[in-house]
Amino acid sequence: MMPVVKENARRQEQDKTQASKDWVTPKRKAVRQMEGKAMNDNTKGSKSINCFAALQQLVMDCWNKEIAGNGLDKIMRKLFRVKHVLKAFHRAEVGDVRKDYKEAKETFCNIQEEAAKFPNDVFIQQSVKEKQRLFLTAKVRMSLAIRQQSKVNWVKFSDENSSYFHAIMRKRRLENRITTFMKGDVIIDDYEKVVNHFIKHFENFMGSKSSATSIIDEESVKHGNCLNLEQQDQSIWDYAKKDDASWYFKKILSIRENLDEAKLQQAARGDKFSAKKCYNSLVGETPFAYANAIWDTLVLPKHRFIFWQIANSHLLTRDYLHHIMVTPNNLCPVCDSEVETHDHIFFNCYYTSQVFEAVNRWLGDFHWPRSTVEMLQYCSNATKDLTQRILNAVMAAVFYFLWKNRNKCVFDFSCMVPSKLSLEVRKIVQLRVVCKGPFKEGKRHMYLTNVVNSW
Ligand SMILES: [Zn+2]
Repeated sequence: MMPVVKENARRQEQDKTQASKDWVTPKRKAVRQMEGKAMNDNTKGSKSINCFAALQQLVMDCWNKEIAGNGLDKIMRKLFRVKHVLKAFHRAEVGDVRKDYKEAKETFCNIQEEAAKFPNDVFIQQSVKEKQRLFLTAKVRMSLAIRQQSKVNWVKFSDENSSYFHAIMRKRRLENRITTFMKGDVIIDDYEKVVNHFIKHFENFMGSKSSATSIIDEESVKHGNCLNLEQQDQSIWDYAKKDDASWYFKKILSIRENLDEAKLQQAARGDKFSAKKCYNSLVGETPFAYANAIWDTLVLPKHRFIFWQIANSHLLTRDYLHHIMVTPNNLCPVCDSEVETHDHIFFNCYYTSQVFEAVNRWLGDFHWPRSTVEMLQYCSNATKDLTQRILNAVMAAVFYFLWKNRNKCVFDFSCMVPSKLSLEVRKIVQLRVVCKGPFKEGKRHMYLTNVVNSW
């Protein structure tokens, strides 16, 4: 083994010294080598290494040469240069693989025919072997080239859309670019002149900066139409609306039509004006008694929303849908035995009663409402007591999950086991209470928190 390795190393060295001269002056070295004696197995490895090293050297030399420009532009120019060098390299070193292959094949076929004619001619037989080897090498090169080409094609055309897009953009950019202009019959294409002409054209359009509106004199505002001291001291409620007042001031004065001093006094909380109070008095609606229980912060926001929808019977249950559109049936999607109404799905369904049972196993003996009206009554009577608030949160969570499960039955054809639903409720309420705490110091609150934690 040793002599072969040594021989390889020597040849490599030799090749390297020749490389710099050989690679830059394009000669059809590969073809030359192929035809020469060098085409034996021992030199294959060293040749490919040498080839690669030379290529690398070539590319690096080209890349490191200084070039004008900066940033991406510079990189692009460099890449362009490398491209040309690589093309030259390819032409010189690889040549026309297709043509070589064709020639090798033809020669091989011809010599085979010749050999068939003279089976005893030793010289021809040897020549057949030689040509066969050349043909096989050309074949390998051909298949390699084809494979390489298919890769290049893939890179070029794999994303047809984007290459199409870039082609269109390039075309549009070229079309939109102003490169010439006509002066009488003469076409002017001088870059500087085109630029100047372009700028002049738009200068004529837009003109120059106006001096009239550049600075507003503050003095003129001061001496303009404004309230004098006496007027400023006057009450806004008695002020007469004048036609020549500004639009903004007229708007402010028109507020007096919907508001009076007494209402404003009512909206005040101590010395401070409360926008909320003012708004409520303007709307004139009394808040619902159950609103506080439903919009309690201990209830999760998304639960609150569904809770409020249930309280107002606003969910799209099938009894309602049946009136406004054609539906296959109006039965409860969970139990499939009764008409789906708010009362049914949240209070009377067989599935719901099972969920209530499962929840009561860890919550204790809670008396669940049997209809929306009962629930609203319960919520109206709810106090700010922590026990009530927690029970309220559990109720809201149960309703939320019941509605979620109902939708799953409709869209996913799957129904949760009541005990699993109760587990989900327990986990989420527990987390909410823990997150919202700690509550006011006190034995009772401590006890309640412990109860929730022990669920
Ligand atoms: Zn049902």
